[in-house]
Amino acid sequence: MPIDVDDAALRRLLQLQDQDTRIRRLQERRSSLPEAAALASARDRIAELDSDIAIARKQLDDLRHAQSRIEDGIATLEDRIGREEKRLFSGSVANPKELSSLQAEVDMLRRTRSTREDELLEVMVQREQVEAALGELERERAAAAERAGSLETEVGRLTGDIDAELREASGLRATIASQLPGELVTEYERVRDAKGGIGAARLQGGTCQGCHTRLPAGEVERLKREGGLQRCDNCRRLLVVTPA
Ligand SMILES: [Zn+2]
Repeated sequence: MPIDVDDAALRRLLQLQDQDTRIRRLQERRSSLPEAAALASARDRIAELDSDIAIARKQLDDLRHAQSRIEDGIATLEDRIGREEKRLFSGSVANPKELSSLQAEVDMLRRTRSTREDELLEVMVQREQVEAALGELERERAAAAERAGSLETEVGRLTGDIDAELREASGLRATIASQLPGELVTEYERVRDAKGGIGAARLQGGTCQGCHTRLPAGEVERLKREGGLQRCDNCRRLLVVTPA
C-alpha cells in the first residue's frame, strides 16, 4: 500500500535525500583529506626529528665536555713535563740514579700525553661527525616544518570551504524537512540510518535506485499503477514511484 503523500512531498523527500547525501559526502571528504593525512605524517616526522635532534645535542654536549676534560688533562701534563724537564736540564739534580728516574718520569708523562692527544683527536672527529649529523637533522626539520606549515594552511582552507558548504547544505536540509510531515521525516531518517545513508530512492526503469536491484515486472507494474510513496520489496527503503 502506498504511503499517502502528495507529489510535492515526494519531490521534497528526494531533495531531502539529496541534501543528506551531499552532507554525508562532505563529512567523509572533510575527514579524509589527503592534505590532512600528509600534515599528520609531516608532524610525526617533526616529532621524530626533534627526538633525534635532542639525542644529537646531548651527544655533542657530552663530547664537548669530554674534549675540554682531555684538553685540561693535556695542559696539566704539559705543565708537569715542563717542570720536570726544567729540573732535568737545570743541573739541580746531580745524582745519576735520580736523574735517570727523572728522565723515566718525563718519558712516562710524554707517553701519557701522546695517548691523551690520540683520545683528543678521536673525540674531535666524533664531534665533527655529530655536528654534521645535527646540521643535517636541523635542515630536515626546517624543511618538514615548512611543509607542515603550508599543509596546515591548505587543510584550513579546504576545511573552511567544506564547512561553508556543509552549513549551506544543512540550512537547505532544515528548510526542506520543515516542509514535510514530521512522521515521514522520522521514518525516512530511521530507514536512512539503518541503510547506509540512503532512506529514500526513486524507482527508475524498474530499478530501485537505493539498492540498484531490478524489481520483477509484475511488481513494477503494480507500483506504477498505485504510484506515490512505496517501499522497495528488496531493500525496504522508501521508494518514490512516478505514476505511470
Ligand atoms: Zn531497493
